[in-house]
Amino acid sequence: MGLFESKPAVKAGEMVYAWTTEDKIAQKAECGGAVTGLLKYALANKMVDAVLAVQRGQDIYDAVPTIVTDPDKLAGTAGSLHCGTLLLAKVVQKFQKGSPDKKLAVTVKGCDLMALHELAKRKGVNLSNLLLIGVNCGGTVSPVKARAMIKEVYDVDPNLVHKEEIDKGQFIIEYEGGHKGISIDELEDGGYGRRSNCRRCLYKVPRQADLACGNWGVIGDKAGKATFVEVCSDKGADLLQKAVKSGAIATAPADPKGIEIRKKVEGAMVKLGQKWRKKDFTSLKAELWNKIAEETSRCIKCYSCIENCPVCMPVSNNGVETKSLMVEQGALPPSPMFHMRRFAHISDSCVNCGQCEELCAMDIPLALFSHSIRSEADLAFEPKLGKPDYSN
Ligand code: FAD
Ligand code: SF4
Ligand code: SF4
Repeated sequence: MGLFESKPAVKAGEMVYAWTTEDKIAQKAECGGAVTGLLKYALANKMVDAVLAVQRGQDIYDAVPTIVTDPDKLAGTAGSLHCGTLLLAKVVQKFQKGSPDKKLAVTVKGCDLMALHELAKRKGVNLSNLLLIGVNCGGTVSPVKARAMIKEVYDVDPNLVHKEEIDKGQFIIEYEGGHKGISIDELEDGGYGRRSNCRRCLYKVPRQADLACGNWGVIGDKAGKATFVEVCSDKGADLLQKAVKSGAIATAPADPKGIEIRKKVEGAMVKLGQKWRKKDFTSLKAELWNKIAEETSRCIKCYSCIENCPVCMPVSNNGVETKSLMVEQGALPPSPMFHMRRFAHISDSCVNCGQCEELCAMDIPLALFSHSIRSEADLAFEPKLGKPDYSN
């Protein structure tokens, strides 16, 4: 029997405001707790065997992917962490490798979703065993940059910050003794703010998930207390309908003005992403080769960029991964051909998740290079890879 059995009366395309009816979740949640409430309903009612969510670790800069099998523990994963720059696709791949028959619900941002699709094409994950709860995404800030930004721009000790949020275009912090918000445009003009790949990202509402959830478009007395849910698939419709029927989730029709506002904000964010692409790529174009040679001359062959890339899957030859064959033994830095081979391998489907750059031991702007190569190729060739309905 399939994961989703009944024919839902809620239909793909519907838009509602939704919130949890459970106080424990609502108190910790970002905007009313519909996401955590839905995950809990799915787990408690055995629609899935486990949930992969993200939980705060030591502090607000420490976002930890967490597998939960006890529904009562899900409240601990509520809330959005914007300084967590992780990608969940490879965690899903590991989970499915160990438990190929288990059904998993995952909270996904646009890049998680694109990465899952690329992994599925390479048979790295099985999408049919996944229930995907999408969250809209305006971007994330690298933990190291966030600390520097809070110290240097906000003039606050980053260790004293206990909460952060992004609201109405501002990055807002709460700390012992007060709170401060500064506009993201102003932060980015000063060289701080979101990761560079997030600035260029165009995938704001994750419609390839089963449900797309976010705060854009929630207006009136529900603002801040409910999540705007767009139903994107029959799986999503089935989950929402059952959770509402059980009383775990409450809903109200989305305000038509709210729907319009959400559409406008999404459009504005896509335009902003395009502006950043132009800015980043235009200056790079004439000197791409020289820049790659210059920047990669710091490479220490740690292979983090290969290990964390959702597109790059080193093949195993009698247990020996072929990544060791991509460079000559010993030489440091490796020949730039190591990087050219890697770019050749990934650039037709680079999803601009930024993991290679984020986790590079030598701070080499790898995502900038692969994303610019990919974007330029997309202007010249058909079919556009990664299509039909997202533009990464
Ligand atoms: P909750 O019940 O609080 O659940 C939130 C879920 O998100 C939990 O499952 C949690 O584990 C998971 N999560 C937390 N941090 C991450 C992370 N870094 N990566 C993956 N999953 C995570 N909505 C908008 O409309 N516009 C935006 O610009 C926007 N930006 C966002 C940026 C980030 C990084 C995140 C995580 C979310 C963003 N959202 C945005 C979505 C919004 O913040 C809420 O998550 C959404 O409205 C659901 O609210 P909730 O109360 O139902 O969620
Ligand atoms: Fe969000 Fe896009 Fe950045 Fe991923 S790449 S964290 S979806 S803005
Ligand atoms: Fe080189 Fe950076 Fe890749 Fe490590 S992550 S192999 S230092 S480019």
